Amino acid sequence: MAGVSPPGPGPHGPGGRRRLREDGVRTHTSAEQSKVEDIVQEVFDAYKTNHHAVQFVLQREKHFHYLKRGLRQLGEAYEAAPVRPWLCYWILHSLELLEEPIPQSIASDVCQFLSCCQSPQGGFGGGPGQHPHLAPTYAAVNALCIIGTEEAYSIIDRQKLLEYLYTLKQPDGSFLMHVGGEVDVRSAYCAAAVASLTNVLTPALFTGTAEWIARVPWCWGGVLVLVVKPTPGDETCYPMQHWVTGRQMHFEGGFQGRCNKLVDGCYSFWQAGLLPLLHRALHTQGDDALSMSRWMFDQSALQEYILLCCQCPAGGLLDKPGKSRDFYHTCYCLSGLAIAQHFGSGDLHHELVLGIPENRLQPTHPIYNIVPEKVVKAVMHFLQQPIPSLEATG
Ligand SMILES: [Zn+2]
Repeated sequence: MAGVSPPGPGPHGPGGRRRLREDGVRTHTSAEQSKVEDIVQEVFDAYKTNHHAVQFVLQREKHFHYLKRGLRQLGEAYEAAPVRPWLCYWILHSLELLEEPIPQSIASDVCQFLSCCQSPQGGFGGGPGQHPHLAPTYAAVNALCIIGTEEAYSIIDRQKLLEYLYTLKQPDGSFLMHVGGEVDVRSAYCAAAVASLTNVLTPALFTGTAEWIARVPWCWGGVLVLVVKPTPGDETCYPMQHWVTGRQMHFEGGFQGRCNKLVDGCYSFWQAGLLPLLHRALHTQGDDALSMSRWMFDQSALQEYILLCCQCPAGGLLDKPGKSRDFYHTCYCLSGLAIAQHFGSGDLHHELVLGIPENRLQPTHPIYNIVPEKVVKAVMHFLQQPIPSLEATG
């Protein structure tokens, strides 16, 4: 490291990473960043003191018990939580990543509950009797595909779902999040994800969507792959790749949501999960400088951050040390960990599991964020059924 002076005595992460250099300018953001680095440093130091051999351990049992408690509550259909289809998805996806089977009776309870959240107009609401909305629709369809039984698949009213998606479609190709709501890139992603999983994706439903996405300044990777379908010679992915790789924090190893924001465990999926999609897009575009064994981010550093800084000792995962656990962060920290452990898919698959071999999670599908087998199973199931036509109901 000739010519580069270290920032001070010993402030390095486990991989010898550097802390932020303030260059004499102390702003509110840099002070907050510095505080987080202090906490992360403490965690790294405590870890080094307690472990002679470097051993990163995923607390599987603890996480499993935390999730199992949440799952029982789902079965009890309690009234208060406004985002129950999301809770179903976050918990079920975390369990499938940990390879923990879902008891048949609980799976059936969740199916019945989600069936009550389905609107007569199609799509799912945040609870029984609530107006449908694309976000809980996405969560409910994912949860049912994770359960993956005949009972689960049969709950989705595909005819009504397609009709509902058409009520949200705008003449310019965009989608509303709900009737009377606003247009958002996430709504195009949710619509494309549920339509492609359940085989209601008609060319007419997404007419103009790719052109609309090309006009918005920020495009989410899932939409990019599902709707835009990059072609050879197309350069649109490079600015996004540059932006996303720049969100991995040099010291902490985790990701931030935006520039000048603090590291947060859930961005382990929201940012790192984009890189497999970008990888695929760049590969399609004929970029031959791409690695065929690693994603375009530091996979070990992200695993260190999640395993050392995001695990609650009592089970569950969290944003950063000092924050409390919740099912949302448990789901997206584990999803990010799975992305960092598995490169590629099918025949081209490399694993990089930091710590003990038991830390290995199931891989996750970067578009849908459910395990790839469940995506295949759902797609195969719904392909046997014809695409509903709008004329059917007149
Ligand atoms: Zn978060």
